[in-house]
Amino acid sequence: MDSRTFRNAMGTFATGITVITTEVDGEVSGMTANAFMSVSLDPKLVLISIDNKAKMLEKIQKTKKYGISILSSDQQQQSMNFAGQIKERIEADFERVGDIPVLKGSLLNLSCNVVDIHKAGDHVLFIGEVTEMKTNEGDPLLYFGGKYRNLQTIEEKIV
Ligand code: FAD
Ligand code: NAD
Repeated sequence: MDSRTFRNAMGTFATGITVITTEVDGEVSGMTANAFMSVSLDPKLVLISIDNKAKMLEKIQKTKKYGISILSSDQQQQSMNFAGQIKERIEADFERVGDIPVLKGSLLNLSCNVVDIHKAGDHVLFIGEVTEMKTNEGDPLLYFGGKYRNLQTIEEKIV
C-alpha cells in the first residue's frame, strides 16, 4: 500500500482541527494538527501525534508543555497559517490558559503537562495531563477527505 492510498483512506475519518502551541524562551510557536484525542477521565489525559520532521517536536520535548486550541468554523485561515499553507504569515492573537499561550476565539483551549512520550514510526505521541481549560460558544471547523468543512454545509446537504 503506498502512502497516498493510506492518506486517502485515513482522510475518511472526519475530525476537528487543533492548533498545538508551546512557548520557548518567550517565543510562541503553533502547529496545525488533527491527530488529537481525549484519552482518560481520571486523570484527565489527551494525546497528540507529531511528525519527526515538525519543528514543534523539539520544542515540546524541551518545554514538556503544550496548549491545544480546537478551532471554530471562522478560523480556517489560522489552520492554514499554522500548517504552513499560506505564503505570508498571519499574525495570531494568543491568550494564556494556565501558563500556556493558546489561540483566542477557539471553541476550546487546554493547557497540558506532558506525562508520557512514545515513539511511533515517523511520529512521536505526547500524552498530556490537562491542567486548565477554557470553553467558548461556536461551531467547529471540520476536516474530511483532505478538505475543510463546516456544519452548515453538511446540514445543507442533508436537507
Ligand atoms: P513551522 O513550519 O515553523 O510552523 C508552521 C506554520 O505556523 C508556519 O507557517 C509559521 O509561520 C506559523 N507560525 C508558527 N508560530 C507562529 C506564531 N507565533 N504566529 C503566527 N504564525 C506562526 N502534522 C503533525 O505532525 N501532526 C498532525 O496531527 C497534523 N495534522 C495536520 C492536519 C491538517 C488538516 C493539516 C493541514 C496539517 C497537519 N499536520 C500535522 C502538518 C503540520 O501542520 C505542518 O507540517 C506544519 O507546517 C508543521 O509545523 P512545524 O512545527 O514544522 O513549524
Ligand atoms: P491528506 O490527504 O494528506 O491527509 C488525510 C489524512 O491522512 C489525515 O487526516 C491524516 O489522518 C492522514 N495523514 C496525512 N499525512 C500524514 C502523515 N504524514 N502521517 C500520518 N498520517 C497522515 O491531507 P492533506 O490535506 O493533503 O494534508 C496536508 C498536509 O498536512 C500534508 O503534508 C499531510 O502530510 C499533513 N498532515 C499530517 C498529518 C499528521 O502528521 N498526522 C495529519 C494530517 C495532515
